[in-house]
Amino acid sequence: MEIIPIHYTQSAPVTEENLKQAMKEARAIATLVDRNKFARNRQCISIHHSQVSEKPFNFFVLDKRWQKHFGLPSRFIINPTFLPANVKNPVTKNLEPVGTIRIEEACMSFPNRSEKKVDRYPAIYAGWEVPRIIAGIVLGTKTYERELGGKAAQMFQHECDHAAGKNIYYTSPKH
Ligand SMILES: [Zn+2]
Repeated sequence: MEIIPIHYTQSAPVTEENLKQAMKEARAIATLVDRNKFARNRQCISIHHSQVSEKPFNFFVLDKRWQKHFGLPSRFIINPTFLPANVKNPVTKNLEPVGTIRIEEACMSFPNRSEKKVDRYPAIYAGWEVPRIIAGIVLGTKTYERELGGKAAQMFQHECDHAAGKNIYYTSPKH
């Protein structure tokens, strides 16, 4: 398995029917991440299935050290979704969705491009599923919801873009 040229296909949700197939692919991505041989010696945080497949399912796989650093329960993130976190408006005292900030990031699908400034929410309410694996057998998924901030929030939004067929450099195939 390797990173393929960028495409704009939206990822299909992972369902009970395709979970076993998706997890087989997820383990192959984990091997790719663990091999850790990427151009320019770039450190890989996570890879979405759409970066290695033209018929993608919506999941991504984290580098184990980053998973630990982010305090996430599994390196496999299935069907990720998010909303901007709420913050108290200092004037009205109401809770309002946090605004975006400009922040630099790179993408493993563009190993030779330099970092790009993108707009991201600094904090999000993230939802996702993780596989329930017992004795190596995938039995289903468990749902998680958590507020994420900092680099974890940035990574999560980046991967959700991949799921939607988006990337940080181009908006359409006609570039
Ligand atoms: Zn990317």
